[in-house]
Amino acid sequence: MLSVYAQQTMVDTLPIGACVFMGPDHVVSAANGQMLSLWHKTEVIIGKALREAVPEILRGNFLELLQGVYERGETCREPDSEVKVVIGGERRRIYFDFSFKPLRDKDGHIYGIVHTAVETTDRVLALQELSALNEEMEASSEEVRATNEELLETQEHLERALAETAEAEERFRLATEAADVGTYDINLQTQAVVTSEQLANIFGLSGLVPSEMYVKAFHPDDLEKRQLAHQQALVTGRLFYEARIFRTDGALRWIRASGKVRYDAAGRPLRLLGTLMDITEQVSAKETERKLKTLADNSADLMSILDLNGVNSYINEAGKQLLGFESDEAVRTTPIADLHTPEDFEQVRREVLPGVMTTGKWVGIMNVRHLNTGEVFPVLNYTIRIDDPVSGQPLAVGAIMRDLRPELAAKKALADSEQLLRSVTSAAPTALWRTDAEGKLTYVNETWLSWTGRPLEAHLGRGWLQAVHPEDRQQVEDAFFSALPARSAFEVEFRMPPVSGEIRWYLNSGQPQLDSEGHFTGYVGACIDITAQKNLQQHKDDFISIASHELKTPVTSLKAALQLIDRLKDKPDPAMLSKLIIQSRKSAERVSSLIDDLLHVGRLQQKQMALNLSGFVLSQLLSNAAQPIGLSTGKHIRVQGALDLEIRADEQRIDQVITNFLTNAAKYAPNADRIDVTVTHDEQYARVSVTDYGPGIPADQLARLFERYYRVQEHTKTISGLGLGLYICKEIIERHGGQVGAESELGKGSSFWFTLPLRPVVI
Ligand code: ADP
Repeated sequence: MLSVYAQQTMVDTLPIGACVFMGPDHVVSAANGQMLSLWHKTEVIIGKALREAVPEILRGNFLELLQGVYERGETCREPDSEVKVVIGGERRRIYFDFSFKPLRDKDGHIYGIVHTAVETTDRVLALQELSALNEEMEASSEEVRATNEELLETQEHLERALAETAEAEERFRLATEAADVGTYDINLQTQAVVTSEQLANIFGLSGLVPSEMYVKAFHPDDLEKRQLAHQQALVTGRLFYEARIFRTDGALRWIRASGKVRYDAAGRPLRLLGTLMDITEQVSAKETERKLKTLADNSADLMSILDLNGVNSYINEAGKQLLGFESDEAVRTTPIADLHTPEDFEQVRREVLPGVMTTGKWVGIMNVRHLNTGEVFPVLNYTIRIDDPVSGQPLAVGAIMRDLRPELAAKKALADSEQLLRSVTSAAPTALWRTDAEGKLTYVNETWLSWTGRPLEAHLGRGWLQAVHPEDRQQVEDAFFSALPARSAFEVEFRMPPVSGEIRWYLNSGQPQLDSEGHFTGYVGACIDITAQKNLQQHKDDFISIASHELKTPVTSLKAALQLIDRLKDKPDPAMLSKLIIQSRKSAERVSSLIDDLLHVGRLQQKQMALNLSGFVLSQLLSNAAQPIGLSTGKHIRVQGALDLEIRADEQRIDQVITNFLTNAAKYAPNADRIDVTVTHDEQYARVSVTDYGPGIPADQLARLFERYYRVQEHTKTISGLGLGLYICKEIIERHGGQVGAESELGKGSSFWFTLPLRPVVI
């Protein structure tokens, strides 16, 4: 058993309120200063039974509790018991951890009780603050909830821990550290700040740091915000703000501070207690989410998220427009089957979704259907499975779809234009070709292939040269290969043996091609068929020599006649003179007729031929024209048929036509002695035919007789002529609205005819 002295010494040394009660009457045998002041007593009470010494504490069940300890040896604790006290006239609540322990002698008999009282007011208030803060944080933001829960949990831990130990502050500090939350306690009277280590760490600091250091860390733009929040807190009692700080390592971080002001009884703010946490990750996650949403909403492609229950939880703006969704509600309530035709949805059901779920993605082209217009169109669909990063379980299906209509339309337009270009180049009577920079042919169009009758492969590289006539090949090679090193344009004419028919002439020209940087890339060229021009040129050359010859003959004859006449002027011979005059006149007429023909052709080419219509008896005109020809050629010309038929035409021109027909009949049937001219008519037309009984004309040349300069091949060497007469006749007759033609049988003769309308339309 401890002596009373020992008891008093022990209780005096304890840092807590302590006293010892002895015996069944609970005599206060020892009590330290703290306990006495708690009771508001002095040492006078030592030695007195409790009921006398401190009767006021025996209210309630205190006595029962002491008896339980004394009689049954139960150790008893009453944590955080509230005691209402009046200090300096002010009512206050303070809290204690009370404990009661039996004192036993060496035989184990109870002889007294040790009673201790540890004040826990600060701890309890801190817990109350924490609880209030938790509520506040809960209310203030969704994100803090998790932290609050942790804090609540921590608090429970803390409370449990406190029940076992008195190291509440330390535990609290550990708990807030574990929750990554810094705590602070600002004395609003002195502005002294006490922070947890964790709070210092958030700022990149450690240990006890003067409050200015914290203030300095704030982003200049957020300093005012912080200041305001603190000022408001003094009024509202609550502090809440989010701001940016620069950590000591220079990193910019976001923090969220919450706190509560504690006031004294007079309503003066005493302390500001609160928490501060680093919310940079949350802010940047939110920021990233916001950016991603902006990105998705501005994407030209559809982006959607399909939840595993088959409901679209998100479709971006482009997607809504593409598919015709009118609201977010419609997105969530429209079954995805409505976005496809039944057949296309089968593909989604059987192929797309199983593909995504098993392999993680499906990429391909599929059809979708517009909700309003019902238009079905193709999209390129890139679908992926979105998994939970922690559990790996599928969460949703994400899809990115691109409308393929513009691409298909562009492709079609390109294909159409390529087709058009191909058709145009194939239809063009021009061969088009291209070479590379070494002068090797890389492309030639259909026209060239049809001219040469060889396939494309035969022409590639230098193969095309083989299509050129062997006699012209060297010349073509020289033209091309001398231009190539100089990269200059070239032009060359050549012949090609045709697939069928006659040899034809071509003009080939090439232009050097340069790319955008001025590098030579090869030649592009065109080749045209110039056979017609060549023939025309040939005709013209022939014509000039023939015309000169034709003119020279009568002029020579005229000159000769005139020379003879000149010689006869001294000894005139009338018979001879008359002959020479006839010859001169004939020659002059021939020259005049040739010049007439040439002038006619010139006028016809300029389409200048005015008709001077008058009515006359056709056979009359024919007979008048036949007479001199018959006389000069010795042919018997018979005019027969509708001798009374009157027509209306340009008499002089018709005379020119019949004269040409009769002259030809005499000229090309030199051995026949007769020519028949027959007039017939029907309701509309008069028809005149001139038949000779000469050698006739080969059938294959008949059709060309009325062409300009055309002459039957057999005649070109033997009988002089310009090949213009029939051409002029045809133009005259057609100008009247009639037609011309020729029939012939070799060895029997030829018949040239023309028709004239009986009632000509005045043109
Ligand atoms: P030209 O008589 O000056 O050659 P034409 O135009 O009058 O010119 O006749 C064209 C060609 O038609 C003649 O060159 C000739 O070959 C052929 N021709 C015209 N009339 C006859 C005919 N009656 N018999 C045979 N060939 C004819």
